[in-house]
Amino acid sequence: MSIETKFIWMDGQLVEAAKANVPFLTSSLHYSASLFEGIRCYNTVNGPAVFRLKEHMNRLIESAEILGFCNLPYTAEELGRATLETIAANELKECYIRPLIYAGGPNLSLNLDDTPARVGIAAWYMGSYLGEEALEKGIRANIASFTRHHPNVMMTKAKVSGNYTNSILAKTESCRLGFDEAIMLDPQGYVAECTGENLFIIRRGKVYTTHTAAILEGITRDSILTLCKDFGLDVVEQPVGRDQLYAADELFVCGTAAECIAVREVDFRQIGDGKMGPITKKIQTAFHETVLGKGAHSAEWLSYVPQK
Ligand code: PMP
Repeated sequence: MSIETKFIWMDGQLVEAAKANVPFLTSSLHYSASLFEGIRCYNTVNGPAVFRLKEHMNRLIESAEILGFCNLPYTAEELGRATLETIAANELKECYIRPLIYAGGPNLSLNLDDTPARVGIAAWYMGSYLGEEALEKGIRANIASFTRHHPNVMMTKAKVSGNYTNSILAKTESCRLGFDEAIMLDPQGYVAECTGENLFIIRRGKVYTTHTAAILEGITRDSILTLCKDFGLDVVEQPVGRDQLYAADELFVCGTAAECIAVREVDFRQIGDGKMGPITKKIQTAFHETVLGKGAHSAEWLSYVPQK
């Protein structure tokens, strides 16, 4: 899949995509000294708008601080404005947005204090991450043979690029085995998250999700917790065992790229009746209504892209 985009915001300026280059000798390329966000802009009933821009930008800055960058050149607010500017410059109505803070080099130091932090923001059209069909039919997943990070090894609350080596291992294995996505267990053996999504389980009318000790605190997860509360659904955040996935009535994954997608099978075990369950459907519908500007939280969660 090649990415088509016209302009990339680089350190304060919009640059033609072909000219948005970084030096080869930078520790961000060699040692993953970088961190990023994944954000979506939706073509809402009131025009293009970014979903939970403030929360994404706050997490971006938090990730940079967790990795150890000091003296960041931009604030969350400035990068939020730059994001809207990038979308407008590319004349996109709906898109995926990728801000990246990286060690600019040119050097290969492992000490972040030896390199300036540089920032880029790209935006491009992206459809359903797990495929159009997954939206209705759900996906098949397996438990990865690779363990998710321990928070004392990698910083799981930060979207640090290096964390995604672990995701690449699991996702590639999963796809090669014929599954759509991998579910990863934490070092204690409890369910952590997928390679780019958090997980929700529904059993006997109750909603469960993993506690946040070893996972990325997903912004979609947070939005869904709010929607569940609105519906009066009981949500329990607790350690989740692998067998609780197998015994679930419904299971779904959620993330910015994937949105809200049912899991119909785990490790060759059918979940519920093998179709998207009623509670998942209700949450998926409410999530789509919200991002498209038609939900109770839309006004609070959407930042509109200024139009010419
Ligand atoms: N876990 C991981 C490992 C992820 O990469 C993502 C995607 N950012 C998520 C969970 C979901 O987070 P969000 O809902 O904020 O996109």
